[in-house]
Amino acid sequence: MSNRPPATQSQFKTLRASSLYCQKCKNAMPVRERLLLVLPDKEIYDYLCTGCASSVGQREVTNAEKIMAAAPAPQTPRRAPTSLLLP
Ligand SMILES: [Zn+2]
Repeated sequence: MSNRPPATQSQFKTLRASSLYCQKCKNAMPVRERLLLVLPDKEIYDYLCTGCASSVGQREVTNAEKIMAAAPAPQTPRRAPTSLLLP
């Protein structure tokens, strides 16, 4: 069994964390995302260790982030040539 070397990329680049360090398991464990709290302007998710089911982290998702996540690509309005619209 070979462990991958620690990733050098920014660990906060990706929104979803697949594994986090668990202090109880003393290891990086796969985690489960659970919706913890819903507020008018944001939602708070809890990350639970799949090994011992203890909370190993939390994440806040603001409405602005959700809107941005829903629209992955910025829409570029395409302008039709006005000459084509004229009779
Ligand atoms: Zn654990």
